[in-house]
Amino acid sequence: MDFDFTEEQTLALESWNRLLERDVAPKVAPFRDTFIDKAAARELLAITGEYGVGTGWVPEEDGGIGLDFVTSGLLYEALARVSPDLAGLAFVNEGAALKIQRLGTPEQKEKYLPGLLAGELIGCSAISEPGAGSDVPSMSARAEKDGDVYRLYGEKQWISNASLADLVVTVVRTGEKEFSMFLLDREKHAFSVREVDKLGLNGWSLGQIFLDGVTVTDADRLGPAGEGLRESMKGFERSRCFISLVALGISRAAIDDAIAYAAERKAFGKPIAGHQLVQDMVAEMATLHDASQLLVYRALSLLDKGGKHNCEAAIAKSFTTESVQRITSLAIQVYGAAGIARENGVERHFRNARMLTIPDGTTQINRLVIGRELLGVNAFR
Ligand SMILES: Cc1cc2nc3c(=O)[nH]c(=O)nc-3n(C[C@H](O)[C@H](O)[C@H](O)COP(=O)(O)OP(=O)(O)OC[C@H]3O[C@@H](n4cnc5c(N)ncnc54)[C@H](O)[C@@H]3O)c2cc1C
Repeated sequence: MDFDFTEEQTLALESWNRLLERDVAPKVAPFRDTFIDKAAARELLAITGEYGVGTGWVPEEDGGIGLDFVTSGLLYEALARVSPDLAGLAFVNEGAALKIQRLGTPEQKEKYLPGLLAGELIGCSAISEPGAGSDVPSMSARAEKDGDVYRLYGEKQWISNASLADLVVTVVRTGEKEFSMFLLDREKHAFSVREVDKLGLNGWSLGQIFLDGVTVTDADRLGPAGEGLRESMKGFERSRCFISLVALGISRAAIDDAIAYAAERKAFGKPIAGHQLVQDMVAEMATLHDASQLLVYRALSLLDKGGKHNCEAAIAKSFTTESVQRITSLAIQVYGAAGIARENGVERHFRNARMLTIPDGTTQINRLVIGRELLGVNAFR
């Protein structure tokens, strides 16, 4: 087993960290508890995209950077330490670009891909609904045929980038057991959006999208008719690894903060870093972080080798996102009362971490994926 990164990966990460410190951190700092506005989002995506963050998984022939999973993962992880919110914005944008790259007609690709990859356009993927989250096939948003056009009705909920999106990749019911994907363009389709006020990741826009008779045609369909659900379920291994990378970034930031505070805060005549039970907390945080990191890197390197790795991605996602709860809670404990004060920032790691056990398969759903892979029995229904 080789635990070393390649020379290219090490160099890419070093120069990315320098750029993060110099160009990204100061610009994203105002957006820790309010969502990154559109002008800032465009500016930041243009910077990250050049380095392959938000563009890395799109092949070079389609205008992306074409990075392997491990390299791209390392860059996302480093970004999430600085801003998990911007990592989310870039990843969700990249997800929309990937769907267009994979399923779009030549016209759709030509019209939208360059803008998405340059950060000029912002995309999102709208699948979840108020009544259908884990149980995606129970969705009720629908397309009704009306002569040559369709009218879309329904509501999408918990949609990342909703307030910013120029483009919405959505899936709606087109028959009793049939679903299709449509590409909604804010310039031409009259959907409306409402931002949701939430616990954490407040730089990361999350909202509702209302479809009140939005008119679309066959030219707005993305991919084959009736394949929308199947297509939207592809890519979960990638997105589960991504949420795990966000958890790693938040864990790292919380551990760094706890270590720095422990060196400076004094109790009983010495820095608290010298008290054995404080060391125990830091040791537990570091152990959970390292175990999480190994699971995520394993999943990413398996994805680089090809084939299906649902089980490893689900193990990484469930372990990492549960571990980050404990890590960020311990960081608050190391700070004592100073940990709960908004002005010190450490409580934000905890609120941000709490968001991660839900998207891209809750912990329970990921455990069912692991169980299905190991036992060969589907316990979902
Ligand atoms: C930060 C964030 C970003 C998101 N971004 C997007 C996005 O961009 N696009 C999008 O479409 N959606 C997005 N979502 C929505 C997300 O995909 C759903 O929240 C998720 O699938 C869970 O659905 P739900 O919230 O409706 O919970 P429910 O499905 O209602 O689950 C409620 C509880 O029941 C448990 N449960 C459900 N079914 C089972 C079962 N069979 N066995 C055991 N337990 C079960 C769940 O684990 C959970 O604890 C996002 C959510 C968050 C928090």
